[in-house]
Amino acid sequence: MNKPIVSLQENASGFFDKISSKHAQSMECKKGCSKCCQTDISVFEIEAERINDWLTTQSLEEQKRLLELWKTPHQTGHCAFLYNDQCTVYEARPLICRTQGLPLYLSTENILDYCPLNFKEGNPPKEDWLNLERMNTLLSFAASSENKDQRIRLKKLKTKFTESLSQ
Ligand code: SF4
Repeated sequence: MNKPIVSLQENASGFFDKISSKHAQSMECKKGCSKCCQTDISVFEIEAERINDWLTTQSLEEQKRLLELWKTPHQTGHCAFLYNDQCTVYEARPLICRTQGLPLYLSTENILDYCPLNFKEGNPPKEDWLNLERMNTLLSFAASSENKDQRIRLKKLKTKFTESLSQ
């Protein structure tokens, strides 16, 4: 059985796939577009651990390749894991990364937000919105229930991985 964090992440990816397939003509999200990765985000320990778990399943050859890549500087202002406009931890990327491009609804403020490249013809129907606060509540719950709710910046996480892979 999947850990709750993995289920949450996979549900988010599943929702993304459903919406991007339904709105293929209105969404510009595609491999190589990294406009939503131009930031240094922080994640809960539970998501950092998920990336670490994924990393340990990679072959030694792949770990070595990642180590060499991560030792080179990433573009200033971009996520530390972004190289050549591609996410180097894609399979284990954090929950928030899986929702970028979707119509994100902030219910407490009654705001709908999405990438300006998407839905240029107008808002998609309500059933296609992702309730961001609800998702964040589920994420906080998963993190605190496992006592893994300290936050860590992805830049720092990459440094930790680079140090441990170098040993
Ligand atoms: S973890 Fe990957 S998807 Fe998320 S911001 Fe960084 S490069 Fe982008």
